[in-house]
Amino acid sequence: MIETDIIIVGAGPCGLFTVFEAGLLKLRCHLIDALPQAGGQLTEIYPKKPIYDIPGFPEVLAGDLIEHLMKQAAPFKPGFTLGERCESFEKTDDGQFIVKTSRGTLHKAPVVAIAGGLGCFEPRKPPIGNIADYEDKGIEYIVRDPNFYQGKRVIISGGGDSALDWSIFLANGVAKEVTLIHRSKSFRGHPDSVQKVLDMAASGKIKLLTDAEVVGVQGSGHLETIEVDSQSEGKISLATDHWLPLFGLSPKLGPLADWGLNIDKNSIEVNTYDYSTNVPGIYAIGDINTYPGKLKLILCGFHEATLMVQSAFKRIYPDKNYVLKYTTVNGVTGF
Ligand SMILES: Cc1cc2nc3c(=O)[nH]c(=O)nc-3n(C[C@H](O)[C@H](O)[C@H](O)COP(=O)(O)OP(=O)(O)OC[C@H]3O[C@@H](n4cnc5c(N)ncnc54)[C@H](O)[C@@H]3O)c2cc1C
Repeated sequence: MIETDIIIVGAGPCGLFTVFEAGLLKLRCHLIDALPQAGGQLTEIYPKKPIYDIPGFPEVLAGDLIEHLMKQAAPFKPGFTLGERCESFEKTDDGQFIVKTSRGTLHKAPVVAIAGGLGCFEPRKPPIGNIADYEDKGIEYIVRDPNFYQGKRVIISGGGDSALDWSIFLANGVAKEVTLIHRSKSFRGHPDSVQKVLDMAASGKIKLLTDAEVVGVQGSGHLETIEVDSQSEGKISLATDHWLPLFGLSPKLGPLADWGLNIDKNSIEVNTYDYSTNVPGIYAIGDINTYPGKLKLILCGFHEATLMVQSAFKRIYPDKNYVLKYTTVNGVTGF
């Protein structure tokens, strides 16, 4: 059981900034994210795009902003449970919350802050009837740990950055064999990555099959072969240890919709006094909440996080008086 002061559901920019603001109040945080890395939409959707409306940064790349936020949070030693989705919570007799993830990891704290953005990014799955039989038994939609593929035969499907980048990475000394299958000849990914894949295919480091798609999967207990429909070769069977269909992720509110929170159009209703939800002790900040005048902007989420932790502090220490001190006066003293 991981114990902390605030469990933060979602390690996007608002969840990360919560760690800093909570740390100033000497509250410890643990972040849980369904994705294998921190950063939320900024890392998953647009890491190389410049953002122009972060106060004090005339221009900053989304990926760089996440790096800065990680650095800013570091003195407060946040814990991370990554690659696991928060599924359910229960309340203990002493008024704490126990949050359980998709992999059964348990987290306990007196306060839960939901910073779940647009929700969980669910993989777009190819329409293959028995695909669920092999999920986590040779078929994975997200690369959680590249070392998992060490010395393995890996087939990747997709034409975007994720498929291209992982093909390049895994073919560089990680996997024994990498095959990239894409249903067209043109790729949607970054031109640099496309060129790298073409070069690696020409030198035999990657097997490239274009105008082809996976139409079937087989194996006893674990994935063993996939069936490919190829324009040039017809139906062929390929032996493999893993198939990674990387067709992108689309966000869904997911299990949070069943937490008994007041929901309006896929967003959690909050009181703007402290961004509390209708369940005492559970707060919601950032893109996932809604209130009159709500703007889904990073800077608004930062403001919400700042006010929210003040309320969380009072909830955890009802008898303590907190006096706001500027960081310029007190500095930043970590744990
Ligand atoms: C292309 C694009 C450009 C943008 N440009 C700007 C801009 O210029 N300026 C600006 O201010 N905003 C911009 N935005 C919006 C900005 O990205 C969001 O406002 C911001 O990401 C919200 O941060 P967040 O921390 O609330 O949520 P997110 O960044 O969405 O992070 C939420 C995290 O919660 C996780 N999660 C959700 N549910 C669960 C669960 N049940 N269990 C575990 N984890 C869960 C998700 O996996 C995700 O990682 C842009 C958005 C896009 C898509």
